[in-house]
Amino acid sequence: SAVFPRPTETRIITVANQKGGVGKTTTAVNIAAALAKQNLNVLVIDIDPQGNASTALGVEHSTDVDSVYDVLINDMEIAEVVARCPDFETLWCVPATIDLAGAEIELVSLVAREQRLQTALARYLEAREVAGERVDYVVIDCPPSLGLLTVNAFVAAREVLIPIQCEYYALEGLSQLLKNIQLIQKHLNPRLVISTILLTMYDGRTNLSAQVAEDVRAHFPKQVLDVAIPRSVRISEAPSYRQTVITYEPSSTGALSYREAAEEIAFRGVKNG
Ligand code: ADP
Ligand code: MG
Repeated sequence: SAVFPRPTETRIITVANQKGGVGKTTTAVNIAAALAKQNLNVLVIDIDPQGNASTALGVEHSTDVDSVYDVLINDMEIAEVVARCPDFETLWCVPATIDLAGAEIELVSLVAREQRLQTALARYLEAREVAGERVDYVVIDCPPSLGLLTVNAFVAAREVLIPIQCEYYALEGLSQLLKNIQLIQKHLNPRLVISTILLTMYDGRTNLSAQVAEDVRAHFPKQVLDVAIPRSVRISEAPSYRQTVITYEPSSTGALSYREAAEEIAFRGVKNG
C-alpha cells in the first residue's frame, strides 16, 4: 500500500462518543499506531480516567506518574509528562491516571476551564515545531461522557472521529452527541468538524450489523470510512499484552482493517466541515 502523506499542519483528532464500549480507545490507539508505523509523528492524549489507552500503548499510568491530570490541574507542561511508547519510534502518549476521575469537579472552579488542554497542547506543538520535530497527528481518547474532560478535548481539536458500534442502539444517543458538538462549535471552537465516522465491531454474518452500517452511511455519507472494523478476538486480546493489534498481530484482519482506516484518514485530509 501507498506511503501515507504527511499533513501540512498538525491534525488534532478527538475520538468521542458518550457511550462506553463502542471502540473509542481501541480506535484511538490503533489508528495512532498505524500512522506511527508509517513514520509519522503521533501523540496520543489519554483523557479517560480509566487509562485504557495508556495501557494499550504500554505506558506507565499508576497514580505516582505525572499525567494529563497534572497538565489540566497543576499547570504542568505536556513535555514534562509525555512518554514514548515502547515498540514505536514516533509514537508518544500523555498518560491518564485514576486521579483524573476527580478532575471533572476540580476543573469547574479553575480559570479557562474549557481551554486548559488546548493551551497546553498549543504550547507543546509549537515547541516541537521549533525543534524541527513537528507532530503530524494528535489523537485524543475521551471518556464515555460529555463532561468537562470531553469539552477540553473538543476545544483542543480540529476534528472529531466518532466510532459507532454496529448494534441495535447505535444511533440512539448520537443526536445528543451531535447537539453537544454544535454547542461547542457555536460557543467554544467554531473550526471543529466531524471529519470521520468509523463503524466498529462489524459482524458481516448478521443482518443487524449490515442494517446499522447502511443507516449510518445514509445519515453521514461523507464522513463514514469505507472500511468497517470487524469484530475480532485479536483486537480485544491485544491490550492484555499492553499492545495495539498493529504490533501484537500485524497480519490479522483487525490490524489490516485499522491500517486501512488510518490510510483513509491520511488520504482524505481534513474535510467534511
Ligand atoms: P470504549 O473506549 O468506547 O469504551 P473500547 O475500545 O474500550 O471502547 O472497547 C470496548 C471493548 O470491546 C474492549 O474490551 C475492547 O477490547 C473490545 N473491542 C473493541 N473493538 C473490538 C473489535 N473490533 N472486536 C472485538 N472486540 C473489540
Ligand atoms: Mg475507552
